[in-house]
Amino acid sequence: MLVRNRVPAFHSLLASLGFRIFQRMPTVYIKTYGCQMNERDSEAVAAQLVGRGYTLVLDEKSADVVLLNTCSVRDLAEQKAIGKMQAMVGHSRKHREKQVFGYLGCMAQSRGSDLVQDGSGVQLVVGTQKFHRVADHVDALVAGRAESLVDVDSEEGSQSRLSEHLALNEGATRRQVSAFVSIMQGCNQHCTFCIVPYTRGRERSRTIQEIVEECRGLVDKGVREITLLGQIVTSFGRREMASVDGRSPFVQLLEAVHGIDGLERIRFTSPHPKGYGQDLIEAYGRLPKLVESAHIPLQSGSDRVLKAMHRGYTAERFEGIVAGLRAVRPEMGLTTDIIVGFPGETEAEFEETIGLCQRVQFDNAFVFKYSPRKDTPAASMEGALPEEVIEERHRRLLDVINTVGASKYDALVGRRMSILVEGVSRRNPARYEGRTRCNKIVVFSGGPRHVGQTIDVRIERVGTFTLYGDPAVLGLGLEEDLANGERGGRGVQVESVVLEEANR
Ligand code: SF4
Repeated sequence: MLVRNRVPAFHSLLASLGFRIFQRMPTVYIKTYGCQMNERDSEAVAAQLVGRGYTLVLDEKSADVVLLNTCSVRDLAEQKAIGKMQAMVGHSRKHREKQVFGYLGCMAQSRGSDLVQDGSGVQLVVGTQKFHRVADHVDALVAGRAESLVDVDSEEGSQSRLSEHLALNEGATRRQVSAFVSIMQGCNQHCTFCIVPYTRGRERSRTIQEIVEECRGLVDKGVREITLLGQIVTSFGRREMASVDGRSPFVQLLEAVHGIDGLERIRFTSPHPKGYGQDLIEAYGRLPKLVESAHIPLQSGSDRVLKAMHRGYTAERFEGIVAGLRAVRPEMGLTTDIIVGFPGETEAEFEETIGLCQRVQFDNAFVFKYSPRKDTPAASMEGALPEEVIEERHRRLLDVINTVGASKYDALVGRRMSILVEGVSRRNPARYEGRTRCNKIVVFSGGPRHVGQTIDVRIERVGTFTLYGDPAVLGLGLEEDLANGERGGRGVQVESVVLEEANR
């Protein structure tokens, strides 16, 4: 999405402050690697910059400021960001007088000042607790008040300092139907393969009141669906708040958000299986806005591997959670994350994972090949598996996931399903798309007046993890709508490289 926000008064102020490098307000390109938390952080940074008069662009070559919001979960993600930055800096040296380049987020946090070494061309490095300072730093670099800036310190209360949304910006030109809201930062679980506790720090939660106010502001602007985000959302508030009548702080938060008039749907990610107590399972039974969809990271179907991963549950407990959720909401859409090739994983243990997947019947899964992360306990464990074994297990598990997923999608053909229409389809710009409550995308020939509406469509056919609905059956007034120009949106991504890469 291109957002333009002209602020002439601010422009004059910048000129009076010595902004002489650019004759107009600078343009910014932001590319996001990794998870939805990173997407949300990028959106907040974009909103900060737009609020100061910067213009977002979709092409790095035309941008005055180029920011990569990075991911450290796998080495591949880091190498991609570094390779991209080197290519952009090289191009800039040949073709442009001056561009400001910066790294944000997890890799910026873990590598810090190493990223601004001589010759890298990078001037800005901002860590995970300093996203709220990005606009100040960019201003300083654009104005020439600093040569380079590295800001990776921890900061008390940083979890509450990033509430900007493009949808709330005065210059927003299109309706946003679905939004992400960050509820906490960090994780204390310390799974042995995971770098997140090192890059994102310890768990820090916002208050319920702050979160509800942010959600209410979004709903007032037309948002109908909110996804609550955090590295381990089910641990929300457990350090700061008490349980009430057996309801955890996270369930109390769900209840409070559920009470917002005009909000239709609530989702959340990422939870931890340990957080699915009876109170959360029961919440699905009494909070109708909480949709029938759960992404619950399994990681392995072997108890020995789960223990070595420090996950804190058994395969049996995981299956018990799934059974509990399906008892309350039989239509529950279930997805998961799985790592294959963890150090020491035997063929029999891998087959336990396959067996669990066949029993649980996930709608989809992100299957990751284990990749050692420096300084994590698993990186120094014995029993590292050969690359070809990991590849072969990855392929076998994906076959199971895809076969099960395809049969679950096929079973929906002919069904009438309720979708919240988000806007123009990302797969086919001539069509529109919406999302079922169980988190499946439906592409259909709708029109702009359907954006933000919850409508029923009949599922006609199935693509790869996509459903296609028939608008003619329900008389959606296709011709009239296509004559109009409005387009909607789910969140705002300047450009992102998402987790689907796990399955490549
Ligand atoms: S719970 Fe998630 S974020 Fe926390 S350490 Fe484990 S994998 Fe990482």
